[in-house]
Parts: sequence; structure tokens; C-alpha cells
Amino acid sequence: MNIKLYGVRGSIPAPTSTKEYKKKITQILENAIEYQLKNKDQFDEFLNQLPQHLTYLTGGNTTCVSIRTEEKFYILDAGTGIRTLGDEIFRNQNQYPKEFHIFFTHTHWDHIQGLPFFKPLYLPQYTLHFYSGFPDIEERLAYQTDERFFPMPIHKTASKKYYHHVDINRPLKIENSIEIHSFPLKHPGGCFSYKFINLKNNKIFIFATDVEFTGEDFLDNSKYIEYFGYADILMIDSQYTLDESFLKIDWGHTSYTMAVNCANHWKVKNLILTHHEPAYEDEKLFYNYTHAIRHRKHLDSERPKIFLAKEGMEFQL
Ligand SMILES: [Zn+2]
Ligand SMILES: [Zn+2]
Repeated sequence: MNIKLYGVRGSIPAPTSTKEYKKKITQILENAIEYQLKNKDQFDEFLNQLPQHLTYLTGGNTTCVSIRTEEKFYILDAGTGIRTLGDEIFRNQNQYPKEFHIFFTHTHWDHIQGLPFFKPLYLPQYTLHFYSGFPDIEERLAYQTDERFFPMPIHKTASKKYYHHVDINRPLKIENSIEIHSFPLKHPGGCFSYKFINLKNNKIFIFATDVEFTGEDFLDNSKYIEYFGYADILMIDSQYTLDESFLKIDWGHTSYTMAVNCANHWKVKNLILTHHEPAYEDEKLFYNYTHAIRHRKHLDSERPKIFLAKEGMEFQL
């Protein structure tokens, strides 16, 4: 499985502001003075020693992740990140299949708002399969493009479309070597996690965004251990700091501290923190990320290895 992140922002798109951009440049220049940067030959070495938040953009697009296997192409959620993916597909049509399997965790705006801008939707050579734990997913997507909200209703678009209900009690097999499980999450209006098991090498990827985990959830709860236990990669909602999570009980999101607690307790090997708070600049996200690692060390553990989700990041399983 190749897993690629196209949107990692929670709640609403958050483009980088000029203010943040200037702040980054100022900090880079300050670093350059301290480093005594003299010529171009030093650039690579100089860039490599900068704090991480000065060398990348986390990205402002809302949730979208692709999973490419030997036979199929899956997409998890259609936040604004799916527009970038659709443009890539359109530009390099011979490198992509003509059929896509799109799974929705739920239909809050930040998980569907990119769909009307996904180019394959409008092209007759493409077939789109939509999957959801909500049986009325077709109606929900049609409502999104009602003429009061969007000029082109989804049922008038040229692609072939099929809608599928995902049963949490029955794993799904769209190809022989991949088994897909789903699991209901605590989130306003409901949400579903998806687990992809590669049966060829028994590697497990779990996508669990928009979920509010608390201490009660990971202690002595065998249903969670059964689903999340020993995942090779768990990509999880970690929108808040611990303090914020106490102020925002029942808002449906998890703190990065709790995300680390859960992953550690469930013996997850790699943890990707995602659904970033839109108000946070890269510097704050990186600060939270380093604190997440520090928290894991306080737990006296090497696991999980922690990653901060950034647009364009790829993982292999
Ligand atoms: Zn969300
Ligand atoms: Zn949500």
C-alpha cells in the first residue's frame, strides 16, 4: 500500500497568511546571520539544520488521503485536498486508473467540500464508487450540490457513480489482497474509522479522524484494542492540546496527548497526527508535535513512532 496525504487540516481550509510567511522568512534570515551563511554551496547544509517548521508548509487543505494498492485506488474523504489529487490525475491520466473507491468517514463540510472540484467527477471515462457507513450517502452528496449551493448537481456530472453502504459487522473486499474494516467513532453526528489490512504482508493502516477519545476509551476497553491494536500506522485526529480538550468536551476531537496515550496503549507502531487546528501556524503545530514526542518519552516508551501529518507526505506498507 502506498499512502499519500493530500489534506491534513481540520474543520476548515487554512491557507498560509502573508503574516506567517513573513515570520518564517524573518526567522530564516536570523538563522542565516547566526550560521554566518556566506555562499550558495552552504545552502543544503544550512537548510538541513533549520527548525522543521521553517523548512515545510503543513498545508491548509482539509482531509483527503489516497491509498494505492497493486490493483485499486482508494481515497479517504473528499476535503479540499481531493482537488489537488484530481488535478494530478487529470494531468497524468495514463499513470492513474479509471476507477476510484472513495470512502467517507462522515459528511461534515471539511470531509466533502472538495468533491465538486475533483476533476474526474466531470469526465465520462471515470467510474467513482462512494462508500459510507451512512446509508443515505447518495442523498447527502446530492444535497451538497443542490442548485442553491452549487451550479452543477452531482447527478448531472459525466462520471459513472455507484453508492455502497459499509456494514461495520462485515469486512469489505474490493480486491483479494485487501480487507477493509470499519468502526464507529464518537463524534457529533457520527463518524467511521476505516482499517485497511494488506493480507499479503499483514500490514495494517487505520484512518481515525474526527473522534473524541478520552482516558476511559483506551483503558480496559477490549473492543478498542481489538480494532486498533498493533496497527502498523494509525492516522488519528489530534486537533487540540490537552488543555483545549478540557474546554471543548463533546466537540468531537482528540488532544495530541490523548492520541499518544491511545496509540501507546494499543501498541501502535507508527502514529500520524492529523486534522490540525485551522488557527495553528506551522510553528505551533511543530511545538505540539515535539511535545507529543516528549509525552511518549514520559510514558517510558519507544512506541509509537510519531509523525506530524503534512501535505504530500507518503508512507509504504
Ligand atoms: Zn473534520
Ligand atoms: Zn467532523
